[in-house]
Amino acid sequence: MTIVTTTIRGTLLSTPTSEVLDVREDHVVTVGDDGRIVSVEPAEINHAPVDIHLDRGTVLLPGLIDLHVHAPQWPQLGTGLDLPLDEWLFRYTFPLEARCADLGFANSIWSALVPALLARGTTTAVYYGSIHEPATVALAEACVRHRQRAYVGRVAMDHPQGTPAFYRDPSASEAVAASARSIEAIRALDSPLVQPIITPRFIPACTDALLEGLGELATASGALVQTHCSENDWEHGYVLDRFGVSDSVALSRFGLARDHSVLAHGCLLSDDDLTLLSRLGAGVAHCPLSNVYFGNAVFPLRRALERGLRVGLGSDIAGGAEPGMLAVCAHSVNVSRMLDDGVDQRLGSERRGVADSAIDATTAFWLATVGGAEVLGLEAGRFEPGQWFDAFTVTTIDETDRHNLDLVGTRLGIWPDLDDWPRRFEKIVRRATPADIGHVWVGGQAVSGGRALSGG
Ligand SMILES: [Zn+2]
Repeated sequence: MTIVTTTIRGTLLSTPTSEVLDVREDHVVTVGDDGRIVSVEPAEINHAPVDIHLDRGTVLLPGLIDLHVHAPQWPQLGTGLDLPLDEWLFRYTFPLEARCADLGFANSIWSALVPALLARGTTTAVYYGSIHEPATVALAEACVRHRQRAYVGRVAMDHPQGTPAFYRDPSASEAVAASARSIEAIRALDSPLVQPIITPRFIPACTDALLEGLGELATASGALVQTHCSENDWEHGYVLDRFGVSDSVALSRFGLARDHSVLAHGCLLSDDDLTLLSRLGAGVAHCPLSNVYFGNAVFPLRRALERGLRVGLGSDIAGGAEPGMLAVCAHSVNVSRMLDDGVDQRLGSERRGVADSAIDATTAFWLATVGGAEVLGLEAGRFEPGQWFDAFTVTTIDETDRHNLDLVGTRLGIWPDLDDWPRRFEKIVRRATPADIGHVWVGGQAVSGGRALSGG
C-alpha cells in the first residue's frame, strides 16, 4: 500500500511526445513513499492538503537526464577545446583522469560535480568514472549521498597503442575483473537510485580480448553498457581499419551494442547502423556541443528518430563546455538548424544543407527527458502515475512589474501579455539558468542543489 508523502500544486509543463508540449494549469501531483507519482489531477478535483503550492510564476518540469558525463573531467570544463580528439585525450584528459588514483582528489571533484548538476535540474546522470575502482565507487557513493539518480561506470581501457602507459588497465583479464568488482561494489550500496554500468572507453582504447570480456560480463551481470560510437572521422576510421566494419557492427559482435546500451555521439552512423542499433534496442547520447569541437559532423537526429532509434541528450562534460541540460537542449536545436541549412555559403541553398533536419524546443526537451529515459529503460520523464517523481521547478519574473526591476537581466523574465505557455516554455528551454531553478526532486525527495525559492 503506497502512502502519499508529498503533494504539490501548480502548473506542469512536459513533453509526452517529441511533438507535443503538454500544459496542465493548476494541477495537483501526489507522490508516494516509494518515490513514484500516485496521481496527477486538476486542483478542482483533488482537494488533498497541499505541501507545496507553486506561485504563478513557477512551473514544474520533469527532471533532466544527462546521458554522457565524464566525471573526472569536471575540473577542465571550458578549457582545452583547441585540439582534435586523439590529441586532446593524450595532452589534457588522460593526465587529469589519471590523478583520480588519489581518492582525495577524486572525491573533491565528485563533491563539486554532483551538486552542480542537480542545481541545473539534472536528476539522472550517466557517468564515466576513471579506471580506478575506489574513485569510481566513491562517485557512486557521492550520488547516493546527494540523492542523484545515476549510472556509474569504471572505465575499462587496456590497449597499448590507444592509451598512455600511466593510465591503462594492466591486462584485459584484470580489467574485466576490476569492472566486475566495481559492479558488485556499487550494487552493494543497495541504493534504488544508483546502478553500475559497464564502460569500455571506446574501441581504440580496448583490445579485442577486453571488448569480448566486457560483452560477456554484460550478459552475466545484466548491467547496462555505455561507450562511444562513430564519434568522428579519426575514431570511426580507426574502427573501419581495424575490423573492416563500423563501430555499430563491431560493438554488436562483441555483445556491447544491446538493449539500452548508451552509445555516445554517433555523428557518423550510416543508415544501416541506425537500423541495426534500433533493432538491438541501443540508444544514442547526442552531445551537440561536444560534437561541434570533436565530431566533424552533425549527428543525423531526425533520421535516427524516423528509424525508431532511441535518442537522448548528453553534455559530454568536458568535451562540451556546458553542464546544464537546458542549455544542451538549446544547442541541439542550434546544430539541427545548421545541419538543415548547411554552413558553406559558397554552395547554393539547395545543395548547402540536409533538408528536414531541424528540431524545435519541444523535441529538444523531449530528448532530455522522455528520450533519455527510453534509452535507459527508466520510468521517468512524464507526469503520469507510476513514473518516478524526478522533477524541478523554474521560477520566472514578470519584467513589467516594477518591483522586479533589480532582478531584470539576472533572472528569467516573462511578459505576461505576450508570453503564452508555448513561449514561456521556449524561454525556459533557451534561457533558464541555475538562478531560475528552485526545487529539485529525485525519487520523490527534495535533494541538495535545489534552491527553495517558492512554496512551502
Ligand atoms: Zn565522451
